[in-house]
Amino acid sequence: PRSLVWFRRDLRNFDHAALYHALRQSDEVYCTFIFDKTILDNLPENDRRVVFIHESIIELDQELQQMGGGLLVCYAKAEAAISQLVAELGVDAVFTNHDYEPQAVVRDESIRQELLKRNCAFLSFKDQVIFEKSEVLSLANTPFSVFTPYKNAWLKKFHAEGSDFYSRSYPIEKYAHKLSTISAQTIPTLAEMGFAQAAERRMPVAAGMSGARTLLEDFVGRMKLYDQSRDFPAVKGPSYLSVHLRFGTISIRQLVQEAMRQIRISANRGAEIWLSELIWRDFYFMILHHHPHVAHRSFKADYDAIEWESGPQADAHFAAWCEGRTGYPLVDAAMLQLNQTGYMHNRLRMVTACFLIKDLGIDWRRGEAYFAEHLNDFDLSANNGGWQWASSSGCDAQPYFRIFNPITQSEKFDAEGKFIKRYLPQLAKLDKRSIHAPWKTAPLLLEQAGVKIGKDYPFPLVEHDVARKQTLTRYAVVKKVA
Ligand code: FAD
Repeated sequence: PRSLVWFRRDLRNFDHAALYHALRQSDEVYCTFIFDKTILDNLPENDRRVVFIHESIIELDQELQQMGGGLLVCYAKAEAAISQLVAELGVDAVFTNHDYEPQAVVRDESIRQELLKRNCAFLSFKDQVIFEKSEVLSLANTPFSVFTPYKNAWLKKFHAEGSDFYSRSYPIEKYAHKLSTISAQTIPTLAEMGFAQAAERRMPVAAGMSGARTLLEDFVGRMKLYDQSRDFPAVKGPSYLSVHLRFGTISIRQLVQEAMRQIRISANRGAEIWLSELIWRDFYFMILHHHPHVAHRSFKADYDAIEWESGPQADAHFAAWCEGRTGYPLVDAAMLQLNQTGYMHNRLRMVTACFLIKDLGIDWRRGEAYFAEHLNDFDLSANNGGWQWASSSGCDAQPYFRIFNPITQSEKFDAEGKFIKRYLPQLAKLDKRSIHAPWKTAPLLLEQAGVKIGKDYPFPLVEHDVARKQTLTRYAVVKKVA
């Protein structure tokens, strides 16, 4: 039989479930990637992620060509493109990897039905997680909604089958001769698809499998320090691999293997904590699968009764938050990091989300949507999980009365103000005591540092202590259930 592998968020030619199964089960395998108009037409023309995907696709095509194959790249609506390719190539089956986002699930089902009518199978595989859907359940056979017991059950299942059963790589090389050669293939340019050229969009990380490899090589030696360094945004602590995990230029099994290897050889805490983060990722995919309503509503229904700030003042506050003009330096520097690079450090995602919700009283969904538009690594499941965690409405969220103080967070996690100064150079001359709350600084010191509050840097939008009390009142509707 002849098959077509449809690449989506798995842009690599190694350890790839759908590619492996297609090669094993077929005599001849075509590969395709579709720049889906349904998705792309809603994105701004300067979207960095499209540049990342485009560069990754060029590399994937080259790599597949070296194996004797190549990538058919289209710019069209996915449903129409798949139908056309199936007809033109005369394939018996389309192989792809699971996508858990609610809209993708609907799209895939409709394609499956359509292909069925033409005697073409649509086969989809688990690839982007270690455990999915209902693979890790509680003793009562129900999905978990609290992380720690989920993680324990995840680890138990992982180790039950031997140390590498679930993280074993899919061997592709030995079946590569079945790849169908694709010649004279052109990849649509960014301009042809209505997007700005790559050079105009600075990405903090290099794209493609090669970009992922470089980051992983850099992180392998630092993993053992992850537990101590991961909370400090001025320090190179985390892996920065999220965008690669998002687009599958790296394989989750490869990362879990590496973390497990480090844990085995030296029982190091850094690798254990990092592995936990990868398990959080599985956890949120699982939550989205079992509770797709979280994409629009609170995980805990009672939290939908909260009344958020609205009207012109809330809109002005929201705009100030988006643009890094809240008057709280750590929050502002974090938002500038997001706006300028498309990345934001995890600690700062928590701080900025908490600030929007609990200092400005603004609906978490507005912040979630802003992150969705700007994060290179945007992933519905993790982003929604993070926002619902911060708003306390999520499955395993922080309690509603836990309200980060943006000044103490700043003193604790950016004590020297190094991160702040990177994004707010106008505060460069403030000392480490003043930088976290410039408006509290003595006028003489401000003058010496060349900072005029209200001119060089804004007054704070709200007073944290007042906002805190208002939030506790706002959340009173959920007290009974918290
Ligand atoms: P590392 O610290 O090196 O972690 C390794 C990997 O583990 C990450 O790449 C990611 O895939 C996974 N991971 C880490 N933390 C989490 C977490 N809390 N939940 C799920 N997976 C995690 N992560 C996204 O991938 N996409 C998002 O859209 C996203 N939005 C977020 C929104 C908010 C409000 C919050 C609080 C967190 C969000 N996160 C999101 C989780 C986390 O902040 C990022 O995964 C992390 O900062 C990415 O950087 P890294 O690759 O250097 O992470």
